Amino acid sequence: MRRVVVVVLDGLRRDLIDEVRTPSLAQFARRSQSFAAHSSVFPSATRVVSASFATGCTPARHELQGNTLALLEDGRLVYHDAGHPEFLQHKRRVTGRSLAVPTLAERVAPHGGMILFSNVSPGAAYAHDPDGHGHVYHRAGSFAPGRRRLEGAQALSVGQHSAGEIAMTSRFIDEVLLERRPPLAILWMGEPDATQHIRPLGSPDHLAALRQADANAARVFEAVDRLRDRGEETLLIACSDHGHQTVSRVIDVEAELVAAGLKDSRALGDVVTPTSGTSSLIYVHPDCAAKVDAIAAFLGSRDWVDRVIAGTQLASIGLAPHHGLALAISLKSDEEPNPFGVRGRSCEARPAPGKATHLNCGQHGGLARYEQAPFLMLDGPGFIGGTVAGAPTSPLDIAPTILAHLRIPAEGMDGRALQG
Ligand SMILES: [Zn+2]
Repeated sequence: MRRVVVVVLDGLRRDLIDEVRTPSLAQFARRSQSFAAHSSVFPSATRVVSASFATGCTPARHELQGNTLALLEDGRLVYHDAGHPEFLQHKRRVTGRSLAVPTLAERVAPHGGMILFSNVSPGAAYAHDPDGHGHVYHRAGSFAPGRRRLEGAQALSVGQHSAGEIAMTSRFIDEVLLERRPPLAILWMGEPDATQHIRPLGSPDHLAALRQADANAARVFEAVDRLRDRGEETLLIACSDHGHQTVSRVIDVEAELVAAGLKDSRALGDVVTPTSGTSSLIYVHPDCAAKVDAIAAFLGSRDWVDRVIAGTQLASIGLAPHHGLALAISLKSDEEPNPFGVRGRSCEARPAPGKATHLNCGQHGGLARYEQAPFLMLDGPGFIGGTVAGAPTSPLDIAPTILAHLRIPAEGMDGRALQG
């Protein structure tokens, strides 16, 4: 039996992997093939990467283009948080489809199915399988095929804390890997991302979260060794979805546009600026399209902006002008260390009212160096243990790699299989 096991350590940047901070991953690097030029997608945020991981396609094609985003509904630009458990169900009602391209869950369903355990936002977990082809386990609700809700002990009710991560890992090993044994099993841990957002990178609390996530990954690696002893031909993938930068300054993008006379007021839907942390998408209502050039010029002149990506350039970063998306910005970054010696700082775009900002702690979402430096290690047929590949790779390549191992066609994907 061929199978694939994926373990994701959300938000872990690859320069933090070493013998001291993450001894199990450092050891795993010696038996797996590592990818030294692995990048994230844009925005480098978990909901977007989850949809790209699941589909092998750019955000332009799967249409989940930001951790928060806007949809044109009845002629109005409406802001949405894609972390909400119902977002993709709502998008299907409004636009006729959840994600616009097939997921791994759908493609693997006729071959034995996918089981995902996730401890990140509900919207990111459900982006793997919004139409109910496989099993998705999350604290906000666990679902069997047909989106049949699992109840009681069948559901996964773990918290977003270390005890929850340990319990989720244990159940994933005992129930999914050793007992149910699907062809595709994914464990998407919430750490170290969750701690990095509320503690400085490199601080003692962060290092403790790294060690714990590393230990959880090690237990999965050991379980896969047992499967291999039984003769199962398993591809084992360990990776992260994005890295983190240290937030050096918080910018209220919307307020800046109002103050510059480029947006009428916060209340109006002429210009909507949903953030994905260190990046923002700028939606302009079609009736106000004449403003786009002035907004682009204003943003390009700000000291809190690294890059403005406009119009036809959106395709170069994997985005498309769906629902009035006119511009994207990646906020200002530098290479300076934080007080714990961890390099890379960025400005953060202030999120919607009621959501936390992360000054002096970790954030991501843009194109800066360290948020675009997740890790990827593959162990199994087609990969050479202990080697490092230098060619650029991204989350788009993971789904075709999984399908190649399972000998399932991967037509229509933007990524490529990495075997060989
Ligand atoms: Zn993430």
